Amino acid sequence: MSEGAAPEIVTRFAPSPTGRLHLGHAHSAWFGWRAARAARGRFLLRIEDIDPGRCRPEFVDGILEDLRWLGLDWDGPVRIQSQHLDVYRQALERLQAEGLVYPCFCTRRDIQAEIARAGAAPHGAEGPVYPGTCRRLGPAERAERMATGEGHALRLDVAAAVARTGPLAWHDRRQGRQEARPERLGDVVLARKDAPVSYHLAVTVDDALQGVTLVTRGVDLFEATHIHRLLQALLGLPVPEWDHHPLLTDAAGRRYAKRDRALTLAAMREGGMTAAAVLALAAGG
Ligand code: GLU
Repeated sequence: MSEGAAPEIVTRFAPSPTGRLHLGHAHSAWFGWRAARAARGRFLLRIEDIDPGRCRPEFVDGILEDLRWLGLDWDGPVRIQSQHLDVYRQALERLQAEGLVYPCFCTRRDIQAEIARAGAAPHGAEGPVYPGTCRRLGPAERAERMATGEGHALRLDVAAAVARTGPLAWHDRRQGRQEARPERLGDVVLARKDAPVSYHLAVTVDDALQGVTLVTRGVDLFEATHIHRLLQALLGLPVPEWDHHPLLTDAAGRRYAKRDRALTLAAMREGGMTAAAVLALAAGG
């Protein structure tokens, strides 16, 4: 890069291999790919397979096959999150050392019962937020329950974290400057007993490690960005720009979902559609 040149644009597509890709994914991949290629930047591919209960290796193969078929080529090696668990663990330990993480022993049912008991639960952007039951446990009870091996998740104490960082902001190319409001999602889970790291932590660490400068993804993840911005500040990571694109919908205005098997890219290919035709649909045309 010559002196004074604009920094390189680096985007990524980061699917979770929980099913075959559908047209909505193709739109997201195309969107990030085009943003990078138009700026002569780099487009990266990352497989977000940290949830062993939901991810399958055959879907990883399917993702690569579908993207190659569409001609959405990526730069450099594919990053497979399940191969980097130590990196996420270190980030988690850093937050723990700062006293910003607490164990949560609640089951889903406990959380629902607590919300019902409290009457009106605080509602965040993504539904009811965690009512904070385990945040209020004393150190002795925490230690005792952990010593007995009681299953638990680890949650971020968002209020304590915000007190540490002070006000934060981020920028979305479409929606402009945003004041970070991570409390709208409540004390999010950073690790679970069956998944050593959560989406929020892994995505934040990886976007920084991979040098992503422009996070392109669907607007359904807009609210999550408030938490990611907070995690970046806590972990001292660089702050990218975001471009949350509208979700591609079918003729009836419905979002594509993994359950619509007939609409997978594989099914379209097998049904005789050309890659060019599918790419035109994915591009929203
Ligand atoms: N892995 C996430 C998903 O498949 C997307 C992550 C992201 O783009 O930030 O929904």
